[in-house]
Amino acid sequence: MTPRPTVTEATAALGEMLAPPFVRLPDPALLFDRRAERFRAVAVGHELGPYLRFLGDIAEAQGRMVEPLADRDAVGIPPLDRTRASVDGACIAALQQMITGMREAAMPPAARDALTRLGGASESEQRDVLRATLDEPTPAEARAEHGFVAAALQTVFVRRASRLDAKQLLPVADGMCPVCTSPPVASLVVGWESARGTRYLACALCSTLWNYVRIKCSLCGSTGGIAYQGIDGDPGLIKAETCDSCHRYVKLMQQNQEPAMDPVADDVASLALDLLMRQTPFFRGASNPFLLGY
Ligand SMILES: [Zn+2]
Ligand SMILES: [Zn+2]
Repeated sequence: MTPRPTVTEATAALGEMLAPPFVRLPDPALLFDRRAERFRAVAVGHELGPYLRFLGDIAEAQGRMVEPLADRDAVGIPPLDRTRASVDGACIAALQQMITGMREAAMPPAARDALTRLGGASESEQRDVLRATLDEPTPAEARAEHGFVAAALQTVFVRRASRLDAKQLLPVADGMCPVCTSPPVASLVVGWESARGTRYLACALCSTLWNYVRIKCSLCGSTGGIAYQGIDGDPGLIKAETCDSCHRYVKLMQQNQEPAMDPVADDVASLALDLLMRQTPFFRGASNPFLLGY
């Protein structure tokens, strides 16, 4: 008797043949809680344990934050262009909630000082720092304030992105989120039914995922001179995808093998790979407000 494929195998094969959706918009009700869980899970026995737990507290505070004030309607392509977005009441409210929400959390002294400074700042100073963070996703100089401000803006942009119509979105440019124009934080090989084995780039600000062919630089779009570097002896779920054209790398994560992986949390937890990459000619090209200076 000839073995027949099971229903699951048949469905999986069908899934691989379907055109993957261009974008997957974030679900704010789940995103931050899952990220908080992931930060805490990867913190166990990790050299960076206290820092990862602190970032878990930030993600939990993000998940607790209430709906910001009324948003303007999204217009144009990209609909939430970060460089053109105004620093409105929702951004200010989110930053103030972040400051209040993190007051009791344990954190490194530099972060505590930054939180105190932000809390003591006038609304116009808070507006300036929000503007600077929107204009420059990865400032050359690491500022402790940046993490809190970027986390507050993430909650605003994730909620706004979640309300868009995914079918209306179009590619903007290589290395740019089609919703808010941010650079990617990492790329994921996903295991979802309708897109199994395909690759998505993850936005550092609004957490939109956008489909992007494999073996192509996530930043400059080059398809030549792409290679992968990992850490010898680790499970190999995260590799640096390097590009000979722009000499940068972005991590590629096998989320299809570890569904709990979160691009932001796993990027921080795999800092050892960034340290290793410093011995190569490639520079980190990803944007992660919790890994400034690397
Ligand atoms: Zn985005
Ligand atoms: Zn490149």
